[in-house]
Amino acid sequence: MTAAAACDVLVAGGGIVGAACAFACAREGMRVALLERDVLGSGATAAGMGHVVVMDDSDAQFALTRYSQQLWRRLAEQLPPAAEYEQRGTLWIAADREEMEAAERKCEWYSARSVPCRLLTADELSREEPNLAPGLVGALLVIEDSVVYPPAVALSLARQAQQLGASLLVGRAVTALGEGHVALDDGCEMPASRIVLAMGADSTQLRPDLPVRKRKGHLVITDRYPGFVRHQLVELGYLKSAHSLTADSVAFNVQPRQTGQLLIGSSRQFGAEHQGVDQPILAAMLARATKYLPAIARLSAIRVWTGFRAATPDKLPLIGPDANDPSLLLATGHEGLGITTSLATAELIADMLAGRQSAIPREPYLPARFAHIDSNPNKEDKHEMDWSHAGVDDGI
Ligand SMILES: Cc1cc2nc3c(=O)[nH]c(=O)nc-3n(C[C@H](O)[C@H](O)[C@H](O)COP(=O)(O)OP(=O)(O)OC[C@H]3O[C@@H](n4cnc5c(N)ncnc54)[C@H](O)[C@@H]3O)c2cc1C
Repeated sequence: MTAAAACDVLVAGGGIVGAACAFACAREGMRVALLERDVLGSGATAAGMGHVVVMDDSDAQFALTRYSQQLWRRLAEQLPPAAEYEQRGTLWIAADREEMEAAERKCEWYSARSVPCRLLTADELSREEPNLAPGLVGALLVIEDSVVYPPAVALSLARQAQQLGASLLVGRAVTALGEGHVALDDGCEMPASRIVLAMGADSTQLRPDLPVRKRKGHLVITDRYPGFVRHQLVELGYLKSAHSLTADSVAFNVQPRQTGQLLIGSSRQFGAEHQGVDQPILAAMLARATKYLPAIARLSAIRVWTGFRAATPDKLPLIGPDANDPSLLLATGHEGLGITTSLATAELIADMLAGRQSAIPREPYLPARFAHIDSNPNKEDKHEMDWSHAGVDDGI
């Protein structure tokens, strides 16, 4: 049975990445359908923190995050108030002299690439954020980093795509895809010239051979305490343990919401695939937060939840044609930066489909870099890859 007339592009997965891809393709005049199993923006997009952040772990990561950040600044004007876009800036906090030297290096590197930032002394830091613990050495302020409410953005992008003619099929699970067609759980089949796989951490349900693993995270949200912190606060401490291969880690990461609430993160776990809260991880995360913000211990938490990032071995997403199926494009594996990089991902996908160059080089993100895995029928082989870089805790 055929559910609809052939479209140019079928996007499987209505998280922020799929919704952004649907919007970017609809804007090109393509006939688009966006397929979502549950509720638009209900996967990792609803579980994430919504920190739109420039990162510098690699040149490719920097290019994608910085390009995205510029796209976010442009999109901000079209977003509804529910998207809660605010340019808060990130304070990367140095707890000792070694971390401050890292902040200085980061500042120099960003400044050379025209990313607005400046160093704060200990006094300046405590004036900016009086609730921080005494004794911190200083910080790097990255000015254009911002905060959004991701599920509202995903919904807005999907609606903007719909206004341009895209079909939204919500509550329909994709059961198979590839070779120019998609099968749905109600038995329908939909043909399409191109299919975009944007199912986040669930992408491996339909393509178990992809080099993607689930990486669990916990977040806590507090009651309303307006002004308790003003910037996104992240510790620089991860730099010292950057080569640790431990599977579980926590880092201090606190975000002020427009509502006056605080989001407290963050944790990272490989191999924990159940949705429940892991009490020891939660306790470690809160202890870390209390070390940096002692008064946080007096605040009321109202909810704790978990979500799954889609991690790849080299910490870069998979964006572009599948190595074996020319009808399939991958837009997955965004790990802890998929809110930030959703917009750039969508532009790269639309550029590929429109056959034009992109604003940044696309090669670092092409799935072909893992072609030896894609073409290997041994689906367990991905676990034998070098995941040590994915194990590095980037604090986000
Ligand atoms: C705790 C935590 C904190 C984070 N903080 C940040 C942050 O501050 N900044 C940042 O940039 N990123 C952050 N991230 C990462 C970010 O949330 C993700 O990278 C991003 O949401 C991925 O979006 P996505 O659209 O690829 O995946 P998802 O949002 O998971 O969307 C995939 C969609 O596919 C649907 N789907 C699955 N299977 C099927 C099927 N068979 N048929 C149809 N639909 C299907 C799902 O229902 C889902 O809606 C965080 C993640 C976590 C877990």
